[in-house]
Amino acid sequence: MNESANRQQSAQCPGCGEGALHPHIEHNLTEINGQNISLPLHYSVCDHCGAELTNSSQSQANKRAMVAAEKQAHGLLAGESIRALRKQYKLSQIEAAQLFGGGKVGFSRYENDDIVQSQAMDSLLRLCIAHPHNLINLAAIRQVSLHAKTRQDIQADAHRLMIAIAPKVQKLLESAMANERKNRAVTASNDLQHDKFAITERSVWKAAA
Ligand SMILES: [Zn+2]
Repeated sequence: MNESANRQQSAQCPGCGEGALHPHIEHNLTEINGQNISLPLHYSVCDHCGAELTNSSQSQANKRAMVAAEKQAHGLLAGESIRALRKQYKLSQIEAAQLFGGGKVGFSRYENDDIVQSQAMDSLLRLCIAHPHNLINLAAIRQVSLHAKTRQDIQADAHRLMIAIAPKVQKLLESAMANERKNRAVTASNDLQHDKFAITERSVWKAAA
């Protein structure tokens, strides 16, 4: 067991000065944005006087749980998904901030669920998760040099995607061309009908004259 966990286990109750504090986690259903979300509540209970107390790390964990629940309730990316995106493309906190904005420490705060990202930031991140090639475009715009391996991975991914969808594109093109041929045939036949009608009309006028 590490030292800090030991200290937490043997923390003395500041209320009675006799008992030891034991950490607890209680899960409560909380309604946020019309959704019932299970929210963990971290606290400690004294085994002597029964006092319930929250230390600073428990209080931080509670705040983060609340922010994470807010994100979940509003359909925003969880901190861990944002961290996964940054790690996958080998971006430092600074590089991520240069690419996406949000300030120098913004990213670590999104990742740790210290703050809720804006909807605009969320959309930008989601577009990069769905289509990593956007990262290359962003890097060019913001003049951030991506890790060579990241660039290779993204390009290889784009290439794989192109190969995977090539047969579908081919089919779409063929069906579009077939439709176009059909439309042309119909138009030509309509033109022919129109000409016939014009001729008939002219001959009626001629006959009447
Ligand atoms: Zn106590």
